[in-house]
Amino acid sequence: PKYVYNFTEGNKDLKDLLGGKGANLAEMTNLGLPVPPGFTITTDACRHYLEHGRVPEGLDAQIEEALTALEEAMGKRLGQADDPLLVSVRSGAKFSMPGMMETVLNIGLNDAAVHGLAAQAGEERFAWDSYRRLIQMFGKTVQGIDGELFEDAIDDLKRRKGVTDDLALDAADFASLVEVFKDIVREQTGRDFPADPREQMRLAITAVFDSWNAPRAVLYRRQERIPADLGTAVNVCSMVFGNLGMDSGTGVAFTRDPASGRQGVYGDYLQNAQGEDVVAGIRNTLPLAELERIDPKSYGELLAIMEKLENHYRDLCDIEFTIERGKLWMLQTRVGKRTAAAAFRIADQLVDQGMISLDEAVGRVTGDQLAQLMFPRFDHEAPRHRLGRGMNASPGAAVGKAVFDSYTAIKWSRSGENVILCRRETNPDDLEGMIAAQGILTSRGGKTSHAAVVARGMGKTCVCGAEELDIDTKNRRMTAPGGEVVEEGDVISIDGTSGEVFLGEVPVASSPVVRYFEGEIDPASDEADDLVRAVHRFMQYSDAARRMNVRANADTPEDAARARRMGAQGVGLCRTEHMFLGDRRTLVERLILADTDKEREESLAALLPLQREDFTGIFEAMDGLPVTVRLLDPPLHEFLPDITELSVRVAVAEARGEEHEGDLRLLQAVHRLHEQNPMLGLRGVRLGLVVPGLFTMQVRAIAQAAADRIKAGGRPRPEIMIPLVGTVQELEIIREESLRVLAEVGAEHGVELDFPIGTMIELPRAALTAGQIAENAEFFSFGTNDLTQTVWGFSRDDVEASFFSNYLEKGVFGVSPFESLDVDGVGRLVRLAAQEGRAARPDIKLGVCGEHGGDPASVHFFHEVGLDYVSCSPFRVPVARLEAGRAAA
Ligand code: PEP
Ligand code: MG
Repeated sequence: PKYVYNFTEGNKDLKDLLGGKGANLAEMTNLGLPVPPGFTITTDACRHYLEHGRVPEGLDAQIEEALTALEEAMGKRLGQADDPLLVSVRSGAKFSMPGMMETVLNIGLNDAAVHGLAAQAGEERFAWDSYRRLIQMFGKTVQGIDGELFEDAIDDLKRRKGVTDDLALDAADFASLVEVFKDIVREQTGRDFPADPREQMRLAITAVFDSWNAPRAVLYRRQERIPADLGTAVNVCSMVFGNLGMDSGTGVAFTRDPASGRQGVYGDYLQNAQGEDVVAGIRNTLPLAELERIDPKSYGELLAIMEKLENHYRDLCDIEFTIERGKLWMLQTRVGKRTAAAAFRIADQLVDQGMISLDEAVGRVTGDQLAQLMFPRFDHEAPRHRLGRGMNASPGAAVGKAVFDSYTAIKWSRSGENVILCRRETNPDDLEGMIAAQGILTSRGGKTSHAAVVARGMGKTCVCGAEELDIDTKNRRMTAPGGEVVEEGDVISIDGTSGEVFLGEVPVASSPVVRYFEGEIDPASDEADDLVRAVHRFMQYSDAARRMNVRANADTPEDAARARRMGAQGVGLCRTEHMFLGDRRTLVERLILADTDKEREESLAALLPLQREDFTGIFEAMDGLPVTVRLLDPPLHEFLPDITELSVRVAVAEARGEEHEGDLRLLQAVHRLHEQNPMLGLRGVRLGLVVPGLFTMQVRAIAQAAADRIKAGGRPRPEIMIPLVGTVQELEIIREESLRVLAEVGAEHGVELDFPIGTMIELPRAALTAGQIAENAEFFSFGTNDLTQTVWGFSRDDVEASFFSNYLEKGVFGVSPFESLDVDGVGRLVRLAAQEGRAARPDIKLGVCGEHGGDPASVHFFHEVGLDYVSCSPFRVPVARLEAGRAAA
């Protein structure tokens, strides 16, 4: 098999094989752009290596062949003493994993070649600096030597010379460092630094393969839900140097602003530096526009290339480039990561520019991004104390206690604190701390620094390069230009949209996108900015495209009204148990514990008018639209006094010789009804069958409320839903009772009450016998919360806090099955029940009302299995509308 592709052989569609970087280097090469020649080793080779512990047969020969071709093209050879070819060996997986895997630069130098490089470049210092960088990078990444040892040696030298800056070191200093570094390598590994450039290259390649499984890479993949078995490609590229003087440099550019999405020239440039220096945020960069002054020829060329790339990829591209003595080289491009707001704006602009269709544009924005746009932001009206400002690297409003190292961030967040991770700059070792924090603040580095890139990828708020804030991680404090000192644990607020940093907690206000959904901003008015207009455009498109309806889970008239404003086409789940808490709990308690029919009827009679009122308001808010009312489904203990508290009360009263007859009777009853597993106990339809009159009271309340609404000129459309059904017999009994009540109330009021009666499918047995159940159900609503709980045998109330983090860490699953539907297991039952339900009753209505109804990936699945609607919380309604449209488009 072919494991090695010259850059001239690949193209942008070969990301699986060549990784993102390799595929795009090939694409640029074939577009005729100035890419330094090189070749890519495939992910196949990496997977083989990871699986078998050695490289595949034939790889070495193919590398040798590609290298020889490269040497011929460049007119110099690796290790050639008078004019050496140098190469970089870089990782590049299908999905970008910034800074997570290894790279080794300057491969090909040794004691002889360093002189050749010096002669060719006319730069002694540069050559020795390059050589020591090679040993340092190679030692650290390939040989696993602690990087501090090299850093300490540099610091040592500087101390002896009495200087603080690397720039004060000369060629002789670097030459002496090379000797020290070689000693370190020998001491740490028991071997000499490999002088043979081909051996250097071979070892660097396998080190890049190995870095696929470095702990930080594993963690990043899990976070970003990147499959663990893809492997990385390796790019071997001839070196160009941005550090050959002030007419050289390196930079990063975006064809549009990845934070806002607006058009313009965005990027960072660093003179006399190598690429890693920019991404590492080690030195502060210049805005890209400055390059026009420094090197107008290269600047013009770069802008022309950027335009060409954007037209070619028809999307925002990000670019890494180097200028070597006035000659521009392209080192990387890809369709760039962007914030949620930028995604919407850019897709919208590209439609306007005729570059993409509306259909394609909607495919490029996601429900998760829309959800981010709906997050609250800081209230601009509120009084606030600004400490300083940095760059708006990743939007959002984050509030938390300032911490100055990742360890503390993790520790504090585990104990429930919100923290802001404050660092001078971040590096890949900070990843866990960044995940734990609400937001990230750095004092150095630009919008392309590690902190910015990673935070944007995670959708986490980040302000970077806030130079005016002195972040002192040693003493765990930060000093603002105004003299304010923030100590560890002090609360700060950071605004990733404006780049501002505030002292204390700044209150938040709702986002314009939410105000648009709420109907407070007219998308055609001046108040609507381009973001709101883009959202409006895509929502209209999705609404027209989608097959599924979107309903909301709402238990109150207020929630129902809000859901309707958000575009809900009805209520898919009105849980009635919330209506029985608070003051009414004692009524339910009396009902459950009633000894006589009389007692029971009294409690029911007291509950009926209250329950009727609840429904009237919701039917009014959803007039003309369906409202699925679910009959009572509590685990019983929620309505009974706490058994421990009650036992203590009885024991105390007994000891004091006080009267406790009532409590004692109550305790006995509670004991009788006590359950070890209330979730699997007397709840749902079981309760309706065991407590006489309970469900009929609820149906009566629904019927009376509907009759009242009809008489008031409304169009109530209740649907009666029976929870936790496991067998058709349960449903049959309740259904007959319900039909009788509807007929009775209809006759009393002189109106016809013909409402659908259906069931939840939330037990495996219900799904497995869906064909039978459908004979007595006009609709199914999948209760995927309980279905997940019962299919997995996971207690939904306990496991997420107890062992899910462990499961996620071990990769048992990438995301909680309570959050995103387990398509293979739970989904299989949903599919089966949908098919068999439809077969038994072709006009059956199918929906879902578990949490998954608002989860983007799950929405696509529900579309695919043919459900008629999804129902989710009011705030997720726009997300579900968009995703249902994307699924259908
Ligand atoms: C479900 O089980 O998915 C459901 C919607 O019901 P609840 O969450 O109220 O149990
Ligand atoms: Mg349920």
